[in-house]
Amino acid sequence: MKVLRARVLGFCMGVRRAMDMAVSEARLLPDAGGPGPGIFTIGPLIHNPQALEVLSARGISVLDEDKLPSGLEGAVLIVRAHGITPGLEESLRKRGGRLVDATCPHVRSSQMKAKQLAGSGYHVFLAGERRHGEIIGIQGYVEQGYGERGAACPASSCTVVAGVEEAEEAARLLRERQGDLPCALLAQTTISPEEYEKIGGAIRNYFPSLMIVNTICGATRDRQEALRELCAGVEAVIIAGGRESANTRRLLAIARNSGVPAWLVETQADLPEEIWNYAVVGLSAGASTPDSIIMDIERALTFSPLPGKKPECV
Ligand code: SF4
Repeated sequence: MKVLRARVLGFCMGVRRAMDMAVSEARLLPDAGGPGPGIFTIGPLIHNPQALEVLSARGISVLDEDKLPSGLEGAVLIVRAHGITPGLEESLRKRGGRLVDATCPHVRSSQMKAKQLAGSGYHVFLAGERRHGEIIGIQGYVEQGYGERGAACPASSCTVVAGVEEAEEAARLLRERQGDLPCALLAQTTISPEEYEKIGGAIRNYFPSLMIVNTICGATRDRQEALRELCAGVEAVIIAGGRESANTRRLLAIARNSGVPAWLVETQADLPEEIWNYAVVGLSAGASTPDSIIMDIERALTFSPLPGKKPECV
C-alpha cells in the first residue's frame, strides 16, 4: 500500500510546546510520581489518551480543577495550552503550587486582548464552545479587565455564542436591554474563518460598530487545507488522533465530506479491515496526536503486503 501524508499534520506549536514543557519538568524532578508533591497538569494536557499515558509514565498526573486539594505545597502545576482563568491561577498559587505556564502564545494573546477591551468598557462577545477551557479562561480575563478599571464585572459583560443563530439572538437581546454599546468580538482560536465571519455579520446587524478581532489560529486551518488537498489524490483516508479531540473529529468530517472513505483511529490497532482494500491511502492527524502514533500507523499501513491483505503486524 502507498501511504501519502498530508503536508501538515499532527502537533501544533502550542501543543508541542506544552508537551515539551511538561516533559522537561518531569526530567527536573526525577522522583516525580513517587511520594511527594509531584507534577500535575490542570486538566488533561491534550486530548489524546496515548500521550496522556506517556505523561503518566513520567510521573505527571492530571488534577481536576473542580476538586482541588486544599494544600499543593511544592507541587509543580502545568497550565495547559488552552489556558485557565486568573481566578484559578490565584487559587492554585494560594495552595502553594508552582505554576508552569504552558498557555499557548496565541491563546495568551486572546486573553490579553479580552482583558484590555473589557478594561476599556467594551462588551465582549466570544465565538466558541461555552464549556471549552479556552473560552472559560478568556471569560476570566474579561472579568479581570473590568476589575482593573474599578468596575464590578456585570453578569452581562461577556456573551459566548456558539453559532450564527445564537449570535443574532444574543445581540438582539443585548441591544433591546442596553441600547447601543461599544462591542468587540473575539473567537476561540480553532473556529472556522467562515463561521466567524457569519457570526460577526449577525452581531453587526445590531451593533454596526462592532470591533472584530482576528484571534483565529492558522494551525487548524493549515491542517484542514492540507487534508482537502490530500483527499483529491487518494482512495481512502486515515485520521490519527483521540476520539475526544474536537479538531481531530473535524478532520474526519472534512475527509468524509470530500467524498473519500475515512476513519479516525487512535492507534494502529484501530485500523479498519476495509483499509486493506485500498492501494493509495492518505494519512492526516489532529493537532494533539503525537509523532510516535502517526509513525506507528504509517508503518502499519506501509507494510501491508498487498491491497486486500491485512499484514501480520497489525
Ligand atoms: S491550535 Fe493554535 S492556538 Fe491552539 S494550541 Fe495549537 S497553536 Fe495554540
